[in-house]
Amino acid sequence: MPDYSLEDIVSLAKRRGFVYSTSEIYGGLTSSYDYGPLGAQLLKNIKDAWWTEFITKREDMVGLDSQIMLHPQTWVASGHVGSFSDPLVEDTKNHKRYRADHIIESWIEQHPGAVDHSFSVEDLSIAEMDLFISDHGVLSPDGNTLSEAKDFNLLFKTGIGAVSGEKDTVYLRGETAQGIFSNFKQITDSTRVTLPFGVGQVGKSFRNEITTGQFVFRTLEFEQAEIEYFFNPEESDWRALFSDWKEAMWQFVTHTLGVREDNIRWRQHTDAERSFYSKDTYDLDYHFPFGWKELWGIAYRTDYDLRQHMQHSGQSLEYRDPHAGEVFVPHVIEPAVGINRLLLMVLCDAYWFDAERHRTVLKLSSNLAPYQAAVFPLMKNKPDLVTKARAVFATLLQSGVRVTWDDRGNIGKRYLYQDEVGTPSCITIDFETLENDTVTIRDRDSTEQERMPISDLQHVFNIKG
Ligand code: ATP
Repeated sequence: MPDYSLEDIVSLAKRRGFVYSTSEIYGGLTSSYDYGPLGAQLLKNIKDAWWTEFITKREDMVGLDSQIMLHPQTWVASGHVGSFSDPLVEDTKNHKRYRADHIIESWIEQHPGAVDHSFSVEDLSIAEMDLFISDHGVLSPDGNTLSEAKDFNLLFKTGIGAVSGEKDTVYLRGETAQGIFSNFKQITDSTRVTLPFGVGQVGKSFRNEITTGQFVFRTLEFEQAEIEYFFNPEESDWRALFSDWKEAMWQFVTHTLGVREDNIRWRQHTDAERSFYSKDTYDLDYHFPFGWKELWGIAYRTDYDLRQHMQHSGQSLEYRDPHAGEVFVPHVIEPAVGINRLLLMVLCDAYWFDAERHRTVLKLSSNLAPYQAAVFPLMKNKPDLVTKARAVFATLLQSGVRVTWDDRGNIGKRYLYQDEVGTPSCITIDFETLENDTVTIRDRDSTEQERMPISDLQHVFNIKG
């Protein structure tokens, strides 16, 4: 297990303006969080990195921004109205609700050796979960008996219609993917894309989750980033495409987001766990302080989704090959991730208590850190120092560097604050600066300071002249 707890992350996130609980002045709202000034920037940096890596930098990808509320038939076609549900059990005394699979998993954890090693809770049907609960006398976390499990649909419903009584039920999207499928024909008709190509979308999704208390790992409202990669199964080898996408996901996490390889792993879904239409599904798991958990899923979904929408809309979503003239329904590979889960991973992976120097550090990479640099005048009551520091600050700010100003308290305290919010470099303007136009630049992780001419900052921050 990691040597820090989820509470350490929650506390730092709140203390330093990354994540607040929603509507705190009213007592909060279950599984809902707001992103403070630093968290909003970090979230945006992760989202931008995803978009740049998977849309902008690839010639075989395009972006999309579809609505949160789609035609309700979309969710009938996708199967969400019928079966997008979690198994719910209720404490018969205090009526608290839990996910049956989670209750069983934690019972197994607390009773090592009680069940066969190869046993997987994910594979159980609702009836089998009920049987497990009664056979093993599984109780609620408060020690009370549990109700029978039932399917609980995760889609949020709302209504449209100006005149009361004429409301039409619509759903807040449970995933972003369906907007991609329903726009498939418009995309191929209105752009020059040819197979294989993918469509990516990032935006809010909503799920009426039963499980609470996992901070931003699982929330009712979250930012999802999904890709549907369409191809002709006669021409492209799905195994090769699938493994290319797995590699791209791995690279994004380790290289772009700078997460340690030791903390991620692949987990293949079992036959029982996988959706019936999927030929292969993997989760990329991260080692969170509460265990190895799914970060990012990838599934080969065949032509299931497009066919479902063809059947329910009566429209053709076939693709005509511009060269061979062949007409067919493309197959699809779907890598789907939550940006907020990526953010939680990034915070966890960057969290470091430096026992030697007794400080907490967020070792965020410079492309993600809310601030890439902080500028300090050594003393705030020396106008010459402040004027000089302001000039350095303004230059960096205008060059697009994410830079912050701090003149409160002594330099040591300012360093500690910037370490905790993950600012990689602190630039101090001191009396020597006034003599020879040099500054000190302090490295967050090593705490080493280097003296350099102000003009060299241009190279440090990659500023084009
Ligand atoms: P889980 O098993 O954790 O509920 P899932 O398998 O239902 O996730 P998908 O439907 O495959 O998840 O969604 C793709 C990704 O979206 C997940 O890997 C996760 O990163 C993110 N995600 C899903 N549900 C939530 C949520 N409630 N809050 C935050 N992120 C989520």
